[in-house]
Formats: sequence, structure tokens, C-alpha cells
Amino acid sequence: MEFKLASFKPLQESKRGFCPKCNKKFKFFCYYCYEIIGNKEGIPNVKLPLDTFIIHHPNEKKSKSTAVHARILSKEAKILEFPDDLENEEKKDAKFFNPNETVVLFPSEDSLSIPEVDWKQIKKVFFIDSTWNQTSSILSSKFIIPMKKVKISNYETKFWRYQNVGKNCLSTIEAIYYFFKEYQIVVNGSYNSEFDNLLYYFIYFYNLIQKNYQADSSKTFKRIDNYIQYENENLNENQNQNQKKIKIKIKIKIKMKIKIKMKI
Ligand SMILES: [Zn+2]
Repeated sequence: MEFKLASFKPLQESKRGFCPKCNKKFKFFCYYCYEIIGNKEGIPNVKLPLDTFIIHHPNEKKSKSTAVHARILSKEAKILEFPDDLENEEKKDAKFFNPNETVVLFPSEDSLSIPEVDWKQIKKVFFIDSTWNQTSSILSSKFIIPMKKVKISNYETKFWRYQNVGKNCLSTIEAIYYFFKEYQIVVNGSYNSEFDNLLYYFIYFYNLIQKNYQADSSKTFKRIDNYIQYENENLNENQNQNQKKIKIKIKIKIKMKIKIKMKI
């Protein structure tokens, strides 16, 4: 898969620094205040066609959430803490959750696929950022129950966090990306990489992990089977065996190759 991404130079040059708001030290961004650390120049800004709300369950660690990527990369994306922020939004605007104008991304039997939705009236899309178990409490809240549920096609996740619900369970930023890609095809007729930069941080981190493990074949990525994409097929096989805890010592220098080709 090819993505059209902004240059990674600002990330490559980024150093740990203090968040101007909370004064804690971070690299790349503060995931509490959603502030970019260091030079903001060159960090892409993605214009989204719908107001985007990501409902974050407080038990989900912010440091591990990819929802923050959307918040930093797009002005249209906001994170709402469950349930306090939802209650506050309703107090400010009684029609905030108007079910005629909102959809929530959630795969279920009665969810509509993207082409099945009449998008003319839809102004807001909600995403749920939580583990599988926490999702049910969000789904059963009075705000979400009346909303139309929509689903996207099946995609395989590239996320590096271990989860036990299968390869088709996407990280939040992947789900947001694929949602808008499908939306764009239905509403505009074609997709021309408009939202690729939603994956700006995600692909940068993905590549870092891949490079890190590819550079040292004695290292095994233990969290997910076959996660690291080696150029040399033998190494893939060895990693499989390592993961099965069979000790095989092998030293082969491999050339690094990033699977995801980037057009910069
Ligand atoms: Zn901060």
C-alpha cells in the first residue's frame, strides 16, 4: 500500500522537550494537552469533511492511544472523555448528539456500510477509543444508542500493540483513516490521498519499529507473530521459530527495506 505523506524530517529532527502547557517532558507531542513538542513546521494538517469526535474511555492509556494522532493532525478532530465531556457537550447544545446528523463507527450486524448511508444530512462522526471490554459501556450510553452505526470494510491492522481480538481490529487512527477514505470514495467518487497524512505518526512509528528489528536479526518482536517484515524469507521463518521459543542462532546481515513505500 502506498501513502502520500508529508516529509518525516520534522520528526527525525525532533528532540524531547517540555510541553508549553503542562511542562512535562515528551518527544513529538504531549498526549495530555495535544501540543506538538518542538518545531511545528512541516507537521501536516489534514482537513476532514466531517466534525470528528473520538470518545475516549478513561481506562485506556493516553500514552498508548493513536486517537491523539488525529487530534494533533486535524483541526476537525476532538477527543471527548467518557462520560464527562459528552454530558458537557449536551449541556452546551441539546442537539449535539442529534441522531439525524451523526453516525458512530462500530461494526455490528445492524451497522450500515459506508455506501448505504445518506451522507447529505450527516455532520458528525464519532469513533470509540477503548479496548473491546470498555466499548460496551460507551455503546450502551444514552448518547450513542440513538446514533446510526456504520462499519467499514475489513482491513488488517499494522498496529504494534498486542491485542487478542484479531488482525481486523484496527487501531483508532487506522479506523479513522479507512473511514474517511471510504467516505471520500462514496461522496466524491474517488480517493486521492486526501487523508493519508492522518497516518503520519502511525507510519513513522511503524517504520521505526520495523527498522529497529530488521537491523538486528537476533532481536525478536515478541508481541505479535510475523509483525516484522524481513526482506529475506529465511529470516521470517527464523522469527517464527524464535517466537515458538526454539533457539536458533543465525547472523545474517540484511539490508533494511521499508515495506510501505512513501511518496514524499
Ligand atoms: Zn502537556
